[in-house]
Amino acid sequence: MEAARFDYVIVGAGLYGATFAERAVAAGKKVLVIDRRDKPGGNACTESVSGIHVHRYGPHVFHTNDKEVYDYLSGFCTLNSFVHTPKAFYRGNTYSLPFTMHTFREMWGDVSESEAREIIRRQCAEIKHEPRNLEEQAIATVGRDLYETLIRGYTQKQWGRECSALPPSIIKRIPIRFTFDSSYYNARYQGIPTDGYTKMVERMLAGAEVRLGEDYFAKRDTYDSLAGKIIFTGSIDAYFGYSLGRLAYRTLTFEQEILDIDRYQTSAVVNYTDADVPWTRITEHKWFQPETADTIRGTVITREYSAEWEDGREPFYPVGDEASENLLKKYIELAKSRPNVLFGGRLGRYRYLDMDAVVRMALDDAKAELRPEKAGRQRESG
Ligand SMILES: Cc1cc2nc3c(=O)[nH]c(=O)nc-3n(C[C@H](O)[C@H](O)[C@H](O)COP(=O)(O)OP(=O)(O)OC[C@H]3O[C@@H](n4cnc5c(N)ncnc54)[C@H](O)[C@@H]3O)c2cc1C
Repeated sequence: MEAARFDYVIVGAGLYGATFAERAVAAGKKVLVIDRRDKPGGNACTESVSGIHVHRYGPHVFHTNDKEVYDYLSGFCTLNSFVHTPKAFYRGNTYSLPFTMHTFREMWGDVSESEAREIIRRQCAEIKHEPRNLEEQAIATVGRDLYETLIRGYTQKQWGRECSALPPSIIKRIPIRFTFDSSYYNARYQGIPTDGYTKMVERMLAGAEVRLGEDYFAKRDTYDSLAGKIIFTGSIDAYFGYSLGRLAYRTLTFEQEILDIDRYQTSAVVNYTDADVPWTRITEHKWFQPETADTIRGTVITREYSAEWEDGREPFYPVGDEASENLLKKYIELAKSRPNVLFGGRLGRYRYLDMDAVVRMALDDAKAELRPEKAGRQRESG
């Protein structure tokens, strides 16, 4: 058995693990990062296919208003000029997302701003009480036409449940603009690392030892013995062997195709909002590289399918229903019995978090963990 020779063993080479590792190495710590996948980057992983940075686990667009997170990541990448302007496809017609004057005109013809406002106001009035489910919430916010065409089928496929059976909280805010500005995010900083997320993460991990294709659970005792502290970014319920029960997740399937044409669709991401089209969206990866896309011959597309998570599949989205939230509280209590394990990231905390929020969480956790007084106390007690 290897002797303990790391300050930290970090399980997961995603954005949380990479950020924590980078900060720990910068503080002079010895760090081992393991991941069961064959490439670092976690869900943001990109790999080169036919000269295109393919987003292996679904499209990832970085966006943030957090200057400190932006400045931090700028040390490892340069963001390109990509601006997210997704489209939706419903019964043979294409619609612009988010909901803007473009969308209203695609739906209702050549309407003015005040006419669009009036149509939406009238349709929203259909819901006269506090919305009790996602369907009512959506109709109360954007009206029935936009709901039926652009929200209903997509959301149903994404969550595997009728919108009337989903809580309103899932879509409390639906961005809606009475202008022609189609950029999806209002964030101050946005784009995609010019050479992909995985290259960025590799730079962040440069000072750590990295072992890929390694499942923590396969050699748990070995990894536990290698360091004083484990930073765990897998699922918290999996860590405890599901001993208190299983949290609910959605999983995804990705079907990739390399095509001998230069353009497949009009935008990097197109949502398919018909309930009877089995995939939720198609990503055409080259459009994430606006500076070079037109010079690339051929294209790569990925169809994305959503399903209920089951054992052996990758958990992608925490569902966060009431039963899971109650169970999570019990796992958080149980985690207190493991002071030498820090649960981080979106699976470790069972929270839907965007990339910037995950980096922020890791920066904060690393700061608290690595602060000099704490290290001093550990030395005294150890
Ligand atoms: C389809 C999709 C699209 C998204 N789009 C966006 C977007 O456009 N913009 C945005 O800001 N955010 C987006 N996100 C969110 C983003 O992916 C996350 O915020 C971020 O990647 C989470 O980082 P993480 O390190 O917490 O977790 P992860 O990226 O999940 O990394 C965890 C890592 O731990 C490894 N691991 C788990 N268990 C074990 C084990 N037992 N042994 C070894 N390794 C293990 C996993 O293999 C994984 O690599 C999207 C997420 C998904 C699923």
